[in-house]
Amino acid sequence: FDDVKAIDPEIAKAIDSEIERQNGHIELIASENFVSKAVMAAMGSPLTNKYAEGYPAKRYYGGCEFVDVAENLAIARAKELFGCTYANVQPHSGAQANMAVFFALLKPGDTVMGMNLNHGGHLTHGSPVNISGSYFNIVSYGVNDNGFIDYDEVRKIALESRPKLIIAGASAYARKIDFKKFREIADEVGAFLMVDMAHIAGLVAAGYHESPIPYAHVTTTTTHKTLRGPRGGLILSSQEFAEEYKLNKAVFPGTQGGPLMHVIAAKAVCFKEALEPGFKDYIGRVVENAQALAKGLIKRGFNLVSGGTDNHLMLVDLQNMGVTGKDAEKLLESVNITCNKNTVPNDPASPFVTSGIRLGTPAVTTRGMKAEDMDVIAEAIYLMIKDGETNRDRVKDMVKALTDKYPLY
Ligand code: PLP
Repeated sequence: FDDVKAIDPEIAKAIDSEIERQNGHIELIASENFVSKAVMAAMGSPLTNKYAEGYPAKRYYGGCEFVDVAENLAIARAKELFGCTYANVQPHSGAQANMAVFFALLKPGDTVMGMNLNHGGHLTHGSPVNISGSYFNIVSYGVNDNGFIDYDEVRKIALESRPKLIIAGASAYARKIDFKKFREIADEVGAFLMVDMAHIAGLVAAGYHESPIPYAHVTTTTTHKTLRGPRGGLILSSQEFAEEYKLNKAVFPGTQGGPLMHVIAAKAVCFKEALEPGFKDYIGRVVENAQALAKGLIKRGFNLVSGGTDNHLMLVDLQNMGVTGKDAEKLLESVNITCNKNTVPNDPASPFVTSGIRLGTPAVTTRGMKAEDMDVIAEAIYLMIKDGETNRDRVKDMVKALTDKYPLY
């Protein structure tokens, strides 16, 4: 960062402070991770200088021969990693990937069925504040009283509302999703099935969650969560479906301009890393750590929505603890534990307050933390929720011992 320091000390200071924050905090935000130095270097490369509207070998600009190499590698590796015949690596983000699919498959006013945001769905799956919720007629499904998706209920809602598109996938759902069942329901009502696997993409790549590829007409994801790549989006499908519904055109020129070639190169590096055997081991530890953290919390009296987790995250329902999600997030932040407040199913509190927190293990696992460390984290959370004032200094020391033991970068 010496060049940044020389030119722009204010930004250099912000970057330095952020590095220090990442180093000194226990990162439990389920959608975050720490990329490798190779991914970071590709992102910070001169490929950012290049305009490359279009697709490899069919660009609207000259001088694209080397960025074409990068994009072709990213596409080939994405297809290999997920076992499919079509990949579009250009979406700038998960939201952009979803928007492009909507643009390809839907017309304004069409009915779309997605998971309720308050039950774990994502903003782009039909929230009224998102373009999805204002351009389409949204019907939503949620989880039952035990915190699980009720497929009979999903089928019932689909039969009643006859959506053109059903979206499976979530931002705060700790259990396995049955993509086969979703496809059966979609087929029964004549809907497309889009799976947004943003949260679990790394688990799918490593074989720790069933792949949506055999079932979904189209699959979208982000590349920066469990997949541990640069911030970005990705669309996967079969070549036939992609051609029939013109998925490439829906990304560019449909919803985006020039692709971010430096990010696409970093996606290629990320996919290469995810194809290595070490990535499977990593995801295995992410899941093991989530189990250990869930166990540590349950042992100390916390309630988890659905009673546990099958993946990398868990939703803690704090209603029996006498604190709101908002207060818990603040209490934990005061001892350098970062997480986010989250609504729980049928939450009596507003989305700004909430009754829960969402915790995930991808980032702490990348740092090298293990199952025994998860028990220390569970104890730290317990001590703060129980009596933050009294326990603050002691918990700060516990957190520092862990972050010192597992330095970042
Ligand atoms: N889809 C799901 C399921 C997500 O959890 C997220 C991000 O949290 C997104 C899409 C959106 O991704 P992005 O923030 O890159 O637009």
